[in-house]
Amino acid sequence: MSRVVKIILCVFGFFVVIGTALYADFVKFCNHSVPVFAYHRITTNKDIYSMPPDVFESQMKYLHDNGYKSISLNEFVNKRAMGPDAFNKNFVITFDDGYCDNNRVAMPIMKKYGYTGTIFIAIKYMAWPGYVTWEDVVSLKENGWEIGSHTWNHVALAKSKPEELEAELKNSKEFLNKFDSGFNVNTIAYPFGSYNDDVYSALAKNGYVAAATGIDGVNTVDTPVYQLYRVNIFNDGKDVKMFAKRLLWAQISSWTRSYGLDITKARRFF
Ligand SMILES: [Zn+2]
Repeated sequence: MSRVVKIILCVFGFFVVIGTALYADFVKFCNHSVPVFAYHRITTNKDIYSMPPDVFESQMKYLHDNGYKSISLNEFVNKRAMGPDAFNKNFVITFDDGYCDNNRVAMPIMKKYGYTGTIFIAIKYMAWPGYVTWEDVVSLKENGWEIGSHTWNHVALAKSKPEELEAELKNSKEFLNKFDSGFNVNTIAYPFGSYNDDVYSALAKNGYVAAATGIDGVNTVDTPVYQLYRVNIFNDGKDVKMFAKRLLWAQISSWTRSYGLDITKARRFF
């Protein structure tokens, strides 16, 4: 064997070994990290925030066929103390704003696959056309869903005055809990993805245990609970492959981030 061939084989072998190790590490990371999917509406409306029910069902089937099991945000927070092995192909499904189709359309579809979700309700919109009524909220709770806050007035919290910030967090939580203490509201999604250090302090003061941002990624035991990443799912007219691609992108970007490498800017090539 010539020297050149030996060198080529050595280099090839080196990359195979490194590639295999990296792939194994990535698969482990995926299994032990938790995607928090972000939806808004499940309807046939023609906008990016409205997912058609049949496409939504294909996405739930994809998760089911790939061995994923849903957990609540509270379960995610509580299990973190057990270390990374606490999670095995777990995910959270969240819905922002509080649309009634979350109960009337999404919930029955998810139930078929043994999945439950979390609804973040902006109190001001309750019972407006298209939004949840109390009956919807009770139905979701009775079907194992987590009820979370999306503030009272759907405001950008980082831009709120201190007294407004306090009122938005306190009043939305108390309003939902007053109806039925079983709601135990202690999670929130930030309207407009707006938050800062003052918001974290106000969340802690008001007993919130988790907050979801709009930043793409998946979550590990090390992700700060008030800065949870999400996998944003939009109705972009594509089939379930786009859903799988968005999940994969969130997993890759968080995996590289765990090694200190931010590849967010490479999103447009993916
Ligand atoms: Zn919102």
